Amino acid sequence: MPRPRLLIAGNWKMHGLAADLGEAETLAAALAGRRVRSRVALFPPATLLDRMARAAQGRGLLVGAQDIYHEPSGAFTGAISAEMAKDVGASLVILGHSERRRDFGETDAQVRLKVEAAFRGRLEPIVCVGESAEVRDAGGTMARIESQLRASLPESLGEQRINVAYEPVWAIGAGKTPSLEEIAEAHEGLRRVLAHVIGDQAQATPILYGGSVTAENASAVLAVSGVDGVLVGSASLEAADFLPIVWAAEAASEPDGGFESWLRG
Ligand code: PEP
Repeated sequence: MPRPRLLIAGNWKMHGLAADLGEAETLAAALAGRRVRSRVALFPPATLLDRMARAAQGRGLLVGAQDIYHEPSGAFTGAISAEMAKDVGASLVILGHSERRRDFGETDAQVRLKVEAAFRGRLEPIVCVGESAEVRDAGGTMARIESQLRASLPESLGEQRINVAYEPVWAIGAGKTPSLEEIAEAHEGLRRVLAHVIGDQAQATPILYGGSVTAENASAVLAVSGVDGVLVGSASLEAADFLPIVWAAEAASEPDGGFESWLRG
């Protein structure tokens, strides 16, 4: 089975006002009209979804939500549903990000409900898993991320498209990353879990790495076997930082492993 198309995803978290939409505009302008092999997506705060999606439309930039609530509508003050995010132009959604799990007490069971809601609302989920520093230090990384993924996925995915992101909690925003071997091992374990749920389709399911990805380390991370993209936080806020990561993915996607880009300089 061929390698999935790389997904380069930028999570703006709780950053961004209308004045920052220029960054998305710069990114969209750089992608527009090019035959870009990777899929490139930004996840702004919900307040900017509508305007960013309008600016991105038809220009090779996807836009997604950072979270949704699992109900379609109702008396849930402050929440937004998959249908609402879709309505303003989102096509993807990040689910179970470690900041949601840590700061808002989100459980695997809730993430699973949200994955089902994303399918219902025609959003493509990126399901995040990752171990804390304590779990890593105790040697429990693989057991933790595999059980998190198993518990965060519905029993059957049918024909639905899904992405997984391996994001070690201790690496997020910390300027630290696991070794390339550790990333490869984690991705292999997660793909095994996926294979139990969706069989052969697991090979075609993108598994992203996230945690302190920058223009400096993106090429090395994207060259790791089983890494099908990156989920980027801080380095996605400005187009000048994010674009080199997109171009690293383009080079990694070339059939000759980037030789063409190297020749072009
Ligand atoms: C993230 O928020 O998912 C993330 C990976 O952040 P950073 O790239 O800043 O570590």
